[in-house]
Amino acid sequence: MSHTVYASLPAVTGASLDLCDADQRAVVPAAAGLAGITPALTPRAVRVLGQIEQAQKDYPDVAKFLGLVAQGIRDTGDSAAVLDEVLQLMQEKRTEPPAPCPVYTWCTETGDHDEHMGTTMWAACPDAYDKPVLPVGLIDWGKGVKVGLLDLDLTPAEARGKLAELRAHLDHVERLIAVAEQGATGPAVDVEHARADQ
Ligand SMILES: [Zn+2]
Repeated sequence: MSHTVYASLPAVTGASLDLCDADQRAVVPAAAGLAGITPALTPRAVRVLGQIEQAQKDYPDVAKFLGLVAQGIRDTGDSAAVLDEVLQLMQEKRTEPPAPCPVYTWCTETGDHDEHMGTTMWAACPDAYDKPVLPVGLIDWGKGVKVGLLDLDLTPAEARGKLAELRAHLDHVERLIAVAEQGATGPAVDVEHARADQ
């Protein structure tokens, strides 16, 4: 029996189903390809149809989907085979890897989303309080790609400006290191130069 029923539901087997998406729920062609088949409902199928009707009232957000299941039962006359089919589809949906961002390759968000966010990276060395140093990442909240840096959402041009300032600061760091390497006997003028440039 179940072979016949499964063979008569090719459209359901091939459907990509998302229970959270009302639009997709509406287009699942559960009853496609079943024209002319009007089998008698088993007592079990009648009972399940009653439960589905109640569930549609209790859970209006999935009422459309349940309606498609009910239609499948009415069309095949057997509730167990249809429910097996639904359970199988739900299982496949659960084990499906989430769809990657269709807009940006750097975006780590999956599925339906409007706000895009990339991986945050920071300097390999945390500070003494174990806080990340200079975290940076790409974002798009809907107004184009920005660089998240220094707790700011920067345009590429603004980010380049900040980067130049940071590079200059690292040059200061390097000069101070050089002074430290020379110890107390080193030329004091280098320290003054570093201060003046701050
Ligand atoms: Zn995205």
